[in-house]
Amino acid sequence: MSVRVYKAEAVVLRRHNLGETDKSVILFTRNQGKLSAVAKGARRPTSRISGATELFSHCVVMLAVGRNLDVITQCEVREPFLGLRADLNRFAAASYLAELTDSMLEDRMPAPGLFDLFVESLRILDAGGSVLAAVCAFELHASRELGYEPSVSLCVRCRKVVLPSEEGATETNEEHLSQQASSGGAAVGFSPSLGGVVCRSCLPRVRDAEKIDERTVMLARQMLNRSPAECQKIQADDEALRVLGRLMRRHIECRTERRVKAADFMEALAASAEKL
Ligand SMILES: [Zn+2]
Repeated sequence: MSVRVYKAEAVVLRRHNLGETDKSVILFTRNQGKLSAVAKGARRPTSRISGATELFSHCVVMLAVGRNLDVITQCEVREPFLGLRADLNRFAAASYLAELTDSMLEDRMPAPGLFDLFVESLRILDAGGSVLAAVCAFELHASRELGYEPSVSLCVRCRKVVLPSEEGATETNEEHLSQQASSGGAAVGFSPSLGGVVCRSCLPRVRDAEKIDERTVMLARQMLNRSPAECQKIQADDEALRVLGRLMRRHIECRTERRVKAADFMEALAASAEKL
């Protein structure tokens, strides 16, 4: 009987021990989406496929179609991302991105754009980039990839323009905004359930709208207009990134209706680092 075998570029999202020597893994593959597979004998020291069972490992695997689960038969590691396992903050952020990605995908739903974004974000974290900016950029761009990009120009209730656009901003507007930014910024709102910004007049009428300042809206726009690598160069203060990150987490949770537990660990770590 012939066994059907296929090749997949993949990243390990989750793994568990299985029996004495095997592992089961959840892989995010570029062309087949998220899938479960078995790595037989992966816990033996001599295993040639153990690379395909390390968390966040970016690899190319050969999979044999099984009756229940597909079986990993070969593995070539492209990027081990060892830096993510050497630093607790980076590990926590990568764990969050992996769990978030897992929560956003249905099994076998191909999402090559999201896959590339995920690998690029792991690469930035592995190379020592800003954790807050990498996480925020991923959340914004992943929402766009999956068709629920937050509205950052029009009020989600009345559809009026909330702030002048970044490109269309005149010098006076830029000056006006930077003055507001230096004084904390005038408040507008963000509603995770409605998926975007809320203008001042609608703010009291939207139940879950949280007050945010204009800097946060401008930051979200800047990040959506740039690749995650370019987002690393934006001069943003940590507080604005933290607020935007928290709102994006709620925005995504409202769409997936799934709670991402690794977010709590990542946020607790960031909070304890701040107290030191
Ligand atoms: Zn409005």
